[in-house]
Amino acid sequence: MSFVVAVDGPAGSGKGTVAKLISEKLGFVNIDTGATFRCIALAMIQRNIKKEEEDKIRELLNHIEINMKPDGTILLNGEIVTDRIRENDVNTLVSPISVIKIVRDKLLDVQRKIAEGKNVVMEGRDIGTVVFPDADVKIYLDASPEERAKRRLKQNQEKGIESSYEEVLQNIIDRDKRDSSREIAPLKQADDAIYLDSTKLSIEEVVEKITDIIKVKWNA
Ligand code: C5P
Repeated sequence: MSFVVAVDGPAGSGKGTVAKLISEKLGFVNIDTGATFRCIALAMIQRNIKKEEEDKIRELLNHIEINMKPDGTILLNGEIVTDRIRENDVNTLVSPISVIKIVRDKLLDVQRKIAEGKNVVMEGRDIGTVVFPDADVKIYLDASPEERAKRRLKQNQEKGIESSYEEVLQNIIDRDKRDSSREIAPLKQADDAIYLDSTKLSIEEVVEKITDIIKVKWNA
């Protein structure tokens, strides 16, 4: 038996932080699907593969292993890449490569396998619509682009990643546009998802609201 909580939303909506806290609170496994796309983008950067080189990407996908440890450490073919995948070159490449069908197909498989038989909080863009359309709870978390840019900037500063507010806001606007308009698995709210705007809410308030929703469903 497994219980799936799908948390979708745009960049900087707080879904990463919220999913992690809820998982800890409820003893669920937290799965950050954005990190899996970031790993592919990083692997392409490391091997100098361009997004147009489909044969090379296909070959790369056959030799890629992504592991997520319970403490949040991300490993790409055994190498720790937890912070590296948040840097600017990956931020720029990740959205363009996430539209590539062979990349999405491969990661769909990876994501479903990681969740198999577990109680999970899985966060991404298409979890409630494509990866787990039958998820037990579906949340669509949103916030204004300006608020999301402020949050990302703060996260970057804490991690020692250099970036300006303008640069982060532009990256968020570009990614929103690309993620929402792509043909395969676009970012959109599932019909049966609960919409939460976190612009004026604290992380704790969002966590509490979602935890309450999960508990009602869990007990039902
Ligand atoms: O969540 P995060 O910002 O790390 O995601 C990075 C990128 O990966 C997104 O901008 C999006 O292009 C892609 N992504 C996706 N589907 C998901 C998760 C992430 O297309 N489920």
